[in-house]
Amino acid sequence: MERAGIYIHIPFCLSRCSYCDFATGMYEGALARRYVRAVAQEINSFSTPKVSCEVDTVYFGGGTPSLLDPEQVEQILEAMRNRFQVVPDAEVTMEMNPGGLQLEVLQNFRALGVNRASFGAQTFDDDELKRLGRRHTADDVRVTIRLLREAGFDNVSFDLIAGLPAQTLEAWERNLDEALALLPEHLSLYLLEVHEGTPLADQIKRGAQARPDEDLSAKMYELMLDKTAAAGYEHYEISNFCLHGFQSRHNTKYWTGTPVFGFGSSAHSFDGKWKRWANERDAARYTRMIEERKSPVVETVELDEHAARAESVFLGLRLLRGIDLKNYRARFGRDLRKEYEEDLTRLSEAGLIEFDDELMRLTRHGALLSNEVFATFV
Ligand code: SF4
Repeated sequence: MERAGIYIHIPFCLSRCSYCDFATGMYEGALARRYVRAVAQEINSFSTPKVSCEVDTVYFGGGTPSLLDPEQVEQILEAMRNRFQVVPDAEVTMEMNPGGLQLEVLQNFRALGVNRASFGAQTFDDDELKRLGRRHTADDVRVTIRLLREAGFDNVSFDLIAGLPAQTLEAWERNLDEALALLPEHLSLYLLEVHEGTPLADQIKRGAQARPDEDLSAKMYELMLDKTAAAGYEHYEISNFCLHGFQSRHNTKYWTGTPVFGFGSSAHSFDGKWKRWANERDAARYTRMIEERKSPVVETVELDEHAARAESVFLGLRLLRGIDLKNYRARFGRDLRKEYEEDLTRLSEAGLIEFDDELMRLTRHGALLSNEVFATFV
């Protein structure tokens, strides 16, 4: 039986970062209390027959889930353990933000079964952090790692962003060196994406911040591949690197088409076959809907077979191990190489994908230009 993942969205932050386009707002204690009750209620009343209810990954994302009290996290976990069979060695991740984390609170989260921590370090340059509107400093990142280790977390991940406005290649190299020296089990390294409607997009338009330079970003990407490999990290997904055995089990479910059920505002779900659905984005509206016993689902998509095939290709290609052509044949009864023959020949001649027996995967160059590859299948 395929095991599912559970995603819990906690949509509160203490301030707004300039590049953020996630569904999150300012923390308000009263709303947070109602929201937690609503999430527990949504979990209790979840019913999707015909799919696995055995769960081996739980992910508290946001927002800043670590703003919740341990009692509130417990309330959600209890609802989940009553409704689903959460296996004893489940990976339970919580996103956190550096700065202001207390050892005792982290110990309490750990005692509740949270066994993986993930946080946004973004850069080790305090000026860059300020420009991004982040509340923490580079020192807070170092303190956070120390506290997490002291609290018993032996699976820690953090994010860095490359290509920040005015960031040089040398500054990025310093960031990578600092990050690797902290020996996290997992690293997510992203190239900056500027989303319309964010303060950063406006600042760039007004000329108040430098526009990201694509050639420089490409060099930064190359450098991160070289440095992480030299430090013993496995590059397993376009933006994700880990020490052996520390892949994000939860995020891998998204790339392999495994069921993931999302709870909370803006949470997305997939039944692992043909159906995706999404909840109301606004936290206050979501909470009211649950309190009034209405369904929070605002969008449902039934995938047809063509869409399911395309999705399995462009999500599967995100994993550097590639797509198993045998599995594709078994699932869809088609030969992927024949189906996309012309496109695959073009991509392979351009050096963006390669074949290895029954595997098709991105090349190193293809990983950098992955959006171009994916556009073929969307
Ligand atoms: S901490 Fe994360 S979710 Fe919150 S505003 Fe910043 S980037 Fe967005």
